[in-house]
Amino acid sequence: MNRDSTLPPLPAKVDLVVVGAGAVGLAHAVEGHARGHSVLVLDASARPTGATARRGGHVAVTTQDTVALSCALASRERWLKLGRDAGFGVRECGAVVVARHDDELAVLDDLVASRAGDAVLLDSRSVADRTSVPDALGGAFLPLDLRVDPAAALTAVADWLDTHPQAHVAWGTAAQTFDAGSGCTLVRTSRGRSSPSGSSSPSGTTSVSSSGRSAPAWTGCGASSCGSRRRCRTTPVREPA
Ligand SMILES: Cc1cc2nc3c(=O)[nH]c(=O)nc-3n(C[C@H](O)[C@H](O)[C@H](O)COP(=O)(O)OP(=O)(O)OC[C@H]3O[C@@H](n4cnc5c(N)ncnc54)[C@H](O)[C@@H]3O)c2cc1C
Repeated sequence: MNRDSTLPPLPAKVDLVVVGAGAVGLAHAVEGHARGHSVLVLDASARPTGATARRGGHVAVTTQDTVALSCALASRERWLKLGRDAGFGVRECGAVVVARHDDELAVLDDLVASRAGDAVLLDSRSVADRTSVPDALGGAFLPLDLRVDPAAALTAVADWLDTHPQAHVAWGTAAQTFDAGSGCTLVRTSRGRSSPSGSSSPSGTTSVSSSGRSAPAWTGCGASSCGSRRRCRTTPVREPA
């Protein structure tokens, strides 16, 4: 994995450049790669430090509703598959929601009634048995919810993605500017000049990096060749039907 500028140069051209190796960026990168695109993920940090990494790792499924619930159920399957593929732990432990007041309990009543077995009401004693909350009015157990260690999961997914020939994850590499131009999108990064073998990266498109060194120019391209600039072909990832 390219964790610093002393490691191998980054590819001169790819179909899809993803900025940020958080949950959102990696999800798009994994999906883009699965659809046959070459992918480059840039992350300014040397390791996962964004919002995803600082969260508790609770994959909330059952409390979503309508379209969001469909997405959450699909996301749940993706987490489980990614855990197997990339080798990180996804705990199918469920979650307990605690109600301390009558109105909260009423909300949980409604939730359980609408989830056809995917949520179970708990009495006060059951909540106390399952949690460290001794004085709840009641609660609900949501067996579909998952838990991951977010920083470990991001690292594992990035490492796993990076093992594929058409996927690259570059930590410690900030995206600095995007030049859409007329024929391609150039992404300038914080890395010093690289010399990709067989490079088709535009010559003479250097810029000064924050460290004062020349920065490489990147192409996010779909075309095989179009001179010094290439047509950008980023592909929106649609939610599953
Ligand atoms: C305390 C807290 C609680 C939350 N609770 C919930 C919740 O209950 N439910 C929920 O759905 N969401 C919640 N969120 C929000 C959720 O965590 C975020 O929406 C989600 O993690 C964002 O993922 P991301 O991949 O977009 O961003 P991040 O995980 O922040 O990743 C962004 C990455 O981009 C990198 N980056 C930034 N700029 C550049 C650049 N120029 N070049 C290269 N890399 C760059 C950063 O280094 C970082 O690694 C919570 C967030 C916090 C902080």
